[in-house]
Amino acid sequence: MASPRISFVSLGCPKALVDSERILTRLRAEGYEISRKHDGADLVVVNTCGFLDSARDESLNAIGSALSENGRVIVTGCLGAEPEVIRQKHPNVLAITGPQAYESVMAAVHKAAPPAADPFIDLMPPQGIKLTPRHYAYLKISEGCNNRCTFCIIPALRGDLVSRPVGDVLREAEKLVESGVKEVLVISQDTSAYGVDIKYQTSMWREREVRAKFLDLSRELGELGVWVRMHYVYPYPHVDDVIPLMADGKILPYLDIPFQHASPGVLKNMRRPAHAEKAAERIRRWREICPDLAVRSTFIVGFPGETDEDFEMLLDWLDEAKIDRAGCFKYEPVKGARSNDLGLPEVPQEVKEQRWHRFMQRQQKVSALQLKKRVGKRIPVIIDEANGTSGKGRTKYDAPEIDGSVHLTSRRPLRVGDIVTVKIDRSDAYDLYGESVS
Ligand code: SF4
Repeated sequence: MASPRISFVSLGCPKALVDSERILTRLRAEGYEISRKHDGADLVVVNTCGFLDSARDESLNAIGSALSENGRVIVTGCLGAEPEVIRQKHPNVLAITGPQAYESVMAAVHKAAPPAADPFIDLMPPQGIKLTPRHYAYLKISEGCNNRCTFCIIPALRGDLVSRPVGDVLREAEKLVESGVKEVLVISQDTSAYGVDIKYQTSMWREREVRAKFLDLSRELGELGVWVRMHYVYPYPHVDDVIPLMADGKILPYLDIPFQHASPGVLKNMRRPAHAEKAAERIRRWREICPDLAVRSTFIVGFPGETDEDFEMLLDWLDEAKIDRAGCFKYEPVKGARSNDLGLPEVPQEVKEQRWHRFMQRQQKVSALQLKKRVGKRIPVIIDEANGTSGKGRTKYDAPEIDGSVHLTSRRPLRVGDIVTVKIDRSDAYDLYGESVS
């Protein structure tokens, strides 16, 4: 009997991508074929994002396309937590499951397209299916979040923090490295809170006990001999202990900290954990220990009640903290978020637009100044794209997809996943340019 063919659409953030990889791994393990097109597949699975209105629209459109091109569609992921929204627009979907509902997705797939009798289990690589290029991979260490930021519905969609045992996380990381991954990107909703829910429970790893704690995990990952990058870290006091590992080259000198704002009033209304008071001072001290630390962050402008003064404070803070990379979102009143009910005045759309443009201009200047400091230096670069002797890569200071690139030439042909030394000749607001000297 021929194996059923599943077409898969993965939308949303890196965390959703990891969910997609898990589902795809299970599908391949059970002998399903993965189809590149909806047309001709036995079934389409759409992994949705439900966070912002724009992401919900994208998800609903993807479901619509799958229905018109194939007709047999299962929906999973964050928007799946609101089945009525999906059914209202697309009543003909076969099944809807929520985020991380791997068992329910698989049960729905089994019902709609029963697996072939004799699955070729050995066709699946031991590290599972990766949707990212082979040289880097995301490592999810926990699900959910114990914080209750007022603009965010993730805890309602994904529940409270559930940390994976540290032994499982480290084994997965080891398998990734064995399969050729050169860069591991650690993700979760709140990486520095890792293990709080399981009371930092220990696991046996390489004949010693390791605690499920941010510092211990960072230390062990740092022994794997690959680039290790930390995302979604909140500046809790214990983060200070991880900076020496960065200074020693064990993990990358890179912290992705979603500050969201700098004004204490706005942060209070957002109910942010470990909010940014004195954060600029902390970053300054971290850079004393690890001078080349790069900080990336995301911010929201136009949060209800944000005044001109709050916004100016944010701009000044960007200069002071020297944030290397920043993303900025205009506040959207997400359905179900408590920020809509705080009784705070809404910021008019045109003011949000102006603030967003001013933020981006200011950040561009900060980023350009930070990048200029790298000109003339010789820096390791991981190659993401290669075209003979020219290519595109990233330094330790840049994560894939969200940060900047290094455009380079080389005397020898470049290969994706190689780490080469590049002499940086020039920079602009976001990228670096140079030549491989290794
Ligand atoms: S830390 Fe805040 S913004 Fe991040 S997932 Fe948790 S509640 Fe949402």
